[in-house]
Amino acid sequence: MYLVEISGVVQGVGFRPFIHNLALSFDLKGYVINNGYGVSIIIQASKDKVEQFTEQIKLQKPILSKIESIHIKQIKSKKIFKSFKIKKTKKSNHILTMIPSDIAMCKECQEEIEDKNNRRYRYPFITCTNCGPRYSIIKTLPYDRCNTSMDKFIMCKKCKKEYKNPKDRRYHAQPIGCFECGPSLLLLNNKAQTVEVKNDKFIDKIVKFISDGKIVAIKGIGGYHLICDATNDEAVQLLRDRKKRPSKPFAIMVKDINTAKQIAAVNKNEEELLSSNKRPIVLLKKNKINNLSKLIAPDINQIGLFLPYTPLHHLILQKLDNPIVATSANISNEPLCTTYEEIMQMSSIWDYCLDHNRDIVNSCDDSVLFWQHDNMFMLRGARGYTPKYLNLPKKTNKNILSLGANQKSTVAITVKDKVILSPYIGDLEGISSINHFKSNIDILMRIYNFSPDIIVCDKHPNYESTKLAFELKSKNKNLELIQVQHHYAHILATMGVNNITSKVLGVSFDGTGYGDDGNLWGGEFLVCERNGYERVGHFKYFKLLGGKKAIKEPRRIALSFLFDIYGENIFEIKNNTVKSFSKHELKTLYQVWQKGLNSPLTSSCGRLFDCVASLINIKQICSYEGESGLLLENFYDANIKDIYKFSFDNGQIDFSQIVNQILEDIAKEENIKIVVVSKFFNTIVEIIFTMYKKYDLPLVLGGGVFQNRILLQLLIDKIPNIILPKDFVSNDSAIAFGQALAVINKDI
Ligand code: ZN
Ligand code: ZN
Ligand code: FE
Repeated sequence: MYLVEISGVVQGVGFRPFIHNLALSFDLKGYVINNGYGVSIIIQASKDKVEQFTEQIKLQKPILSKIESIHIKQIKSKKIFKSFKIKKTKKSNHILTMIPSDIAMCKECQEEIEDKNNRRYRYPFITCTNCGPRYSIIKTLPYDRCNTSMDKFIMCKKCKKEYKNPKDRRYHAQPIGCFECGPSLLLLNNKAQTVEVKNDKFIDKIVKFISDGKIVAIKGIGGYHLICDATNDEAVQLLRDRKKRPSKPFAIMVKDINTAKQIAAVNKNEEELLSSNKRPIVLLKKNKINNLSKLIAPDINQIGLFLPYTPLHHLILQKLDNPIVATSANISNEPLCTTYEEIMQMSSIWDYCLDHNRDIVNSCDDSVLFWQHDNMFMLRGARGYTPKYLNLPKKTNKNILSLGANQKSTVAITVKDKVILSPYIGDLEGISSINHFKSNIDILMRIYNFSPDIIVCDKHPNYESTKLAFELKSKNKNLELIQVQHHYAHILATMGVNNITSKVLGVSFDGTGYGDDGNLWGGEFLVCERNGYERVGHFKYFKLLGGKKAIKEPRRIALSFLFDIYGENIFEIKNNTVKSFSKHELKTLYQVWQKGLNSPLTSSCGRLFDCVASLINIKQICSYEGESGLLLENFYDANIKDIYKFSFDNGQIDFSQIVNQILEDIAKEENIKIVVVSKFFNTIVEIIFTMYKKYDLPLVLGGGVFQNRILLQLLIDKIPNIILPKDFVSNDSAIAFGQALAVINKDI
């Protein structure tokens, strides 16, 4: 008798019926059962046969499953089995069962909704064992229907028959339903009145509204979207006005790959990613000529596209001629809407809402990814990718809860040899986003029956996550609280996804993070080891005039350098930066600079992009984070190889030396933007390369600056074996993972 234990994503993905059918084909006797780590299989057969059997498990496993490990053990038992059975799940503690992510509609289901003779023809909630909502509907483990928001729908006879038949492709598909018994649509106007729809023509009606230039809200998998015709200038402008979002790019949903190719350049990797069962938003290079409204992503050469991922989106797009804007429904800085009450609070933004009655238990945004030079990177890890299970270098008995940073926040817990990372939560500004943050902690704790021994947070005293950590500590004296430096956590996270624990040179470039000396770091060279780091280089500190305000106004960054260079003579200077201020503002800011009022010191590299954007008049005031970096990308010319001179003084690079040279270039008045931007990028690369040569250690990148595709490409080309946050995020969503590693690594 043999016991085969399989761990990984093997529950809620049709694994047991697969094992059952495979065992029958091998003529094996015994049973399969879910356990706390995955599944156990008892087989009464010879060793050879068991090995052949497990070989086939690896080869034929269900699409959504992921096998982490298979252990075969001989056991003693006198029991004799006459058949092979699927045993009912016992109530045990489901400590390391991986929750499957929400998965886009599969091919078979698509064929069924398009088949007039199928009983689910045009059913907007069709699902099967291989597709549909998972994480967004789960309340607790084990993943059974009674533990999901499908529990209120009583299966009809036909559905029940499919659900119970191991040979059916809906065997144990928890979100199973049909017109008779499953979730249904509801159309509302913005006065909360139900719009009567004849013969269930919901899709036709909503398609008509979109074609007429209306803004509609549609409930998706992990939240609501705001949707409008992406080719209609007036509709897009209306959405921008109502959402108070002047220029931040919108993501576009297109009906198929061919439509995507009309809008953007799509290579093989990108095509695969777009059509994968995760269906993320993929950032692509926009075609010069396309039919989208110019207001979608103004002045930016990239565009985020995705394909329909629910049957509902599919049905709508099939009937529409045009691509649609599909942006998360939220009020700026607030979390994504997931309930009727929340979407009603936004009714001034939309005209009609296509709602449904399957509750979203756990909100989950759309994921955003891009390909660069054979590497995939994430900008936002959410639907389809989360919860994310990351490996720890070793098993731990410590229950660690990491609270991450303050922007693009995520939280994480440790279970055995894994870190379980939450989906992207967003920026922690305002009460509702903080509540949303807390609820994400609760979700992980509830699902994994987890209570922390150790809490890890950032060193920034004003981060909401830090405040919460101290609050939790004050309520429970037994909790250990550990604070981890932000930029070190960035590097640890990239090391972690690459399974590296040796000494490295970390380049941690981002907006800002709290440094050990109380200044705002962000352009750091750190020699990192698994149990600590040394800061060996950074950009020389400059003043952030007006603190937070300076982060939104590139001109304040440039002005800070101009004050350093010109001092009092600034009032005689006329350049783009200076001209963007009134005389009065200039005078006030000069005093602010002189006296250092509300002007924290920073070594941020992200802000240097702002400085350049202001000097060459690409952007003086940003309307969204990272805007100047995105705009600069448009002006890079790979034919320009020149760099600006720079020097290290005690490991410090004084950027005002570079600003001086930029001003000289501007004075030449030739192709200013292209020359300056290209030389700036080349210089940043050269600075990193110089440090790389000096320390001769593996080079690891971390921090939001490395979302910049030009910079990434140049570094990948220049530095052999560069270690990247591959298949992962480089921004602050990575911090929670890095924090957990900082604690674990100390004990290895
Ligand atoms: Zn399916
Ligand atoms: Zn049914
Ligand atoms: Fe950061």
